Amino acid sequence: MLTPAKGLTYDAVPHAHMVTTAEQVARAVLQNSPFVRCFRCLSAQVGMLEKDAREAAQVLIVRDQFFVDRRVCQVCGHTDEMLVSGKAP
Ligand SMILES: [Zn+2]
Repeated sequence: MLTPAKGLTYDAVPHAHMVTTAEQVARAVLQNSPFVRCFRCLSAQVGMLEKDAREAAQVLIVRDQFFVDRRVCQVCGHTDEMLVSGKAP
């Protein structure tokens, strides 16, 4: 009979949460491309706090699939640093 291996713990829950929010943000950015949205509009789009969207962006930037660039928001027209898909130029 199979028994669970001793010493194994599932401690990936906070990390899994970050992965999920990062995936949500990544999907929204790719969906909006070639247009971009500021973090306020992007977080509203995915239904999370702006703080969480910015944290998720950090994860995506570290993975080197996204970068931050000074752009004009598609929704509010605000010029700011925004998350863009692709490698940094
Ligand atoms: Zn905006």
